[in-house]
Amino acid sequence: MFKTFFRKAALKNENMELKHQNAVRADIISINAHQLRTSLTAMKWVMKMFMDRDLGPLTDEQAKYLDTCYDRNERMIKLVSEMLDVNRKGELAMEYDLKPASLETLVDEMLVDFKGETEKAGITLIKESGTTLPHAMMDSDRIRIVFQNLIENAIKYSSTGKNVTISLGVLDGKLHVTVRDQGIGISPEDQERIFGRYFRADNARQTAATGSGIGLFTTKRIIQAHGGEIWFQSKPNEGTAFHFTLPTAKATEAVQ
Ligand code: ADP
Repeated sequence: MFKTFFRKAALKNENMELKHQNAVRADIISINAHQLRTSLTAMKWVMKMFMDRDLGPLTDEQAKYLDTCYDRNERMIKLVSEMLDVNRKGELAMEYDLKPASLETLVDEMLVDFKGETEKAGITLIKESGTTLPHAMMDSDRIRIVFQNLIENAIKYSSTGKNVTISLGVLDGKLHVTVRDQGIGISPEDQERIFGRYFRADNARQTAATGSGIGLFTTKRIIQAHGGEIWFQSKPNEGTAFHFTLPTAKATEAVQ
């Protein structure tokens, strides 16, 4: 009887401790997300002043880049607001807004977004696409995160002078994307842990000190939530190719 009493008391304590930890975590997320949103909103108003020519004239090229920055900033504000929402509701599931959209257009936008970063790193980012592709059924904001993670990694884990190639095609009736690099690769021992949360391989730590090991974990969840698959092929010191598939809008409509 005493044993049961103590077990129940221990469970109750554990439960309270977990609730406390969750509350602390939710508070940290909330404080940081608010700070992020405040900074992003401040940036938005500065950009707006430039765009409205309050601070003097702009060349066409400057105005074009500014428009891109403004647009990306707006997306980030939206993502942070969503994060705050989810945190407030205590839900962990992300909501997806699936619509027919062009993968090719999204990749073209990524080439523009990564222009500065690839130039600085001395990497050539290439898009390859054979035929006209059907639209994907996707949440473009989430798939944008997938591309950002894969391209950022491909650049981060490659050396100057190398290529990063994004190929678009169709495989078994689904849209098929490959992000291929000529970088450090992933050793056979590390390969099965690569999508695990917080995992970073030793060669990655040596090449790039900064990293969280959360990017691929999130990427896999996003692709799976779309009904797609993700996998990779890699050889140490030769390079890595990440592949993912997404349903086409046509196939999804046919099922409904
Ligand atoms: P990180 O912030 O460390 O890049 P990710 O979750 O994006 O975290 O990736 C997890 C790990 O997978 C990396 O630390 C690295 O070991 C490996 N990895 C991911 N992409 C590549 C790549 N293109 N080339 C080599 N290793 C990679």
